[in-house]
Amino acid sequence: MSGDDELNLLVIVVDANPIWWGKQALRGSKLTLSKCLDASMVLGNSHLFMNRNNKLAVIASHIHESRFLYPGKRWAVIDIFDEAGETNMYGSKDGKYELLTTINEAIAEEIKNLMINAGLEWQQAETLLAGSLAKALCYIHRVSKTESAGQEIKSRILVIKAAEDSALQYMNFMNVIFAAQKQNILIDACVLESDSGLLQQACDITGGIYLKVPHKPSLLQYLLWVFLPDHDQRSQLILPPRVHVDYRAACFCHRNLIEVGYVCSVCLSIFCNFSPICTTCETAFKISLPAVMKAKKKKLKLAI
Ligand SMILES: [Zn+2]
Ligand SMILES: [Zn+2]
Repeated sequence: MSGDDELNLLVIVVDANPIWWGKQALRGSKLTLSKCLDASMVLGNSHLFMNRNNKLAVIASHIHESRFLYPGKRWAVIDIFDEAGETNMYGSKDGKYELLTTINEAIAEEIKNLMINAGLEWQQAETLLAGSLAKALCYIHRVSKTESAGQEIKSRILVIKAAEDSALQYMNFMNVIFAAQKQNILIDACVLESDSGLLQQACDITGGIYLKVPHKPSLLQYLLWVFLPDHDQRSQLILPPRVHVDYRAACFCHRNLIEVGYVCSVCLSIFCNFSPICTTCETAFKISLPAVMKAKKKKLKLAI
């Protein structure tokens, strides 16, 4: 069981792709972005309630930017975990724990800012998920350097994924996953609609849970039942079984997911078609022509 000294940091990355959420609203889906954020806040609040050492961060992954909803800019100056800050936390009007009210207000305000100021000029429709994960890793690294004070810190990232995978981000995404694995950071994924091959790999490699929500309006229940327990508690629960992982890689030329392809022997880039020069490292390969000639000669001999 978790000790008192243990510091548990949960980073929630919410896919705030406005196009995907807009389409959902048009289809009359019961799950809206604000409901999804409400569910994330309840999970975040519950996580903070589990232990007073627990910490939380929430990142919105948009198509323009990845933004910290909490701790946001206003937390950069005053650290809420300061002893000085703690004196301000009493005096809640409705009897609710003041810290949670402040966090929830900050998240709501920041997502409103993000959505209003995003504008309508969208060059691309893909969520910047790899960037958000990189930000999460940087944040975890910073917390472990500055705030752990000799404590053991256990960190995990939960991705609430809405839109489709972006093959363009394949390289960045895989690099982030391997970085997380090296740092012993779990990546969990709660997928709302189409399965994500990239997140399946992320969860499998880092030891996290991948779950495609069977019934979207019940998102909160899934978050609380499956993703609230930390790594140690999970071993005592019967959680959804592991999914079959799609380990296909994306070719570097077209970003298509392929099962069989050509790998550059120098830089390990993957291609769906043979090319005499690797486009990544510019190595020239001189193997194709002589091999064909030899084969032809052999065939001729056999015919005689
Ligand atoms: Zn290709
Ligand atoms: Zn190469």
